[in-house]
Amino acid sequence: MKYTPSDFNPGLCDFLDASPTPYHAVASMQTLLEDNGFIQLHEADSWGQLDAGQYFVIRQASIIAFTLNGQELVSSGIRMVGAHTDSPCLKVKPKPEKVKQTLLQLGVEVYGGALLNPWFDRDLSLAGRVSYENAQGQIEQVIIDFKEAIATIPSLAIHLDREVNQNRNINPQLHLPPILAQVDDGDSLDFRALLEQQCRQQYPDINIGRVLDYEMCFYDTQKAAVIGLSADFISSARLDNLLSCYIGLQALLAADKTRPALLVCNDHEEVGSQSVSGAQGTFLQSVLQRLAINNEAYQRMVEQSMMISADNAHAIHPNYADRHDAEHGPLLNKGPVIKTNANQRYATSSQTSAIFRQLCQQHNVPVQDFVVRTDMACGSTIGPITSSHIGVKTIDIGLPTFAMHSIRELAGSQDAVMLCKVLTAYFNQK
Ligand SMILES: [Zn+2]
Repeated sequence: MKYTPSDFNPGLCDFLDASPTPYHAVASMQTLLEDNGFIQLHEADSWGQLDAGQYFVIRQASIIAFTLNGQELVSSGIRMVGAHTDSPCLKVKPKPEKVKQTLLQLGVEVYGGALLNPWFDRDLSLAGRVSYENAQGQIEQVIIDFKEAIATIPSLAIHLDREVNQNRNINPQLHLPPILAQVDDGDSLDFRALLEQQCRQQYPDINIGRVLDYEMCFYDTQKAAVIGLSADFISSARLDNLLSCYIGLQALLAADKTRPALLVCNDHEEVGSQSVSGAQGTFLQSVLQRLAINNEAYQRMVEQSMMISADNAHAIHPNYADRHDAEHGPLLNKGPVIKTNANQRYATSSQTSAIFRQLCQQHNVPVQDFVVRTDMACGSTIGPITSSHIGVKTIDIGLPTFAMHSIRELAGSQDAVMLCKVLTAYFNQK
């Protein structure tokens, strides 16, 4: 791999655009893995003793990819990187259709800690997973994406709320339902029928029957872009945390395969990770257990392993610099950030941060530190969850970004390739 932003960032932007939902992110990763010779394993099958090779497993909207090289895992352990596939968004309710003032709207729930203001006045589309009945009456799933801008949430004019710039108050139940169309008196929409039509259009060779249920999310149709007077920034939806998913995946693909390596990308981080496919679930543990011969071998393998949990960090914002501890304000384009918290909101220890810091130094990548202000609460991520669940030593790191959880976030255009270089070196490290 050539480690320059101009080689790396176009693929990153394509990945971000192709992945409007966690289901699409996993499908995008599956394509890249298959193109590079990885073989899919299914949890319902018997794996036996796996040969040296490259594999991946999907559970719902989570994915684990790994390479084995024939080394005894009890002595080598596995070098792991973790990230998450989900981002805050608006999810369509089960009975969403409503018509008010001739306008067709869909009821939505807020998924995760979304910054709501930026959702107004955007050209929105819809994507997600649909469960339908096939000709034999069995239930199957497909992922769909409307791609076109089919909805919007207009702001209220300032003339009708003169205080809006001082104290805007968004009631998610009342103010967020997107508008999709204007309809005649008495007309409405059958949302499931609309999904059925979209499924048939996207999958003409599949016999799609009745749509029973769905997970559908609104997203911004504006494409990811490298922006700024000197192309210093990447502007996109879902940088948290598809940025880390893509970098982790590219590092795994670029690794020399001389030691066992694994990438896990979990769904549901934004809502606490407690789900069948979240980091509090059994997915990673169950895959690791199947790679070890018995329980003692599993424990020994975990003890020899390490996890780098990659999720974005807050860069210091010039207009709000007082929100950071002055000595711990990461800058865009100045390299990955080690995230530390005395209260274990991050899993970083001096043992794991020293390993990461040394790796960065060895590969001429600058490294930064983040600690939240002592008078503010700290965020968290999959690092502490995975670390406590599996018992693996872990570090939390990430790339500096602005506008975390907005509909459009901002990262540095130089940073992604730097982190990819370090993670590749970590996967290769003897
Ligand atoms: Zn995140």
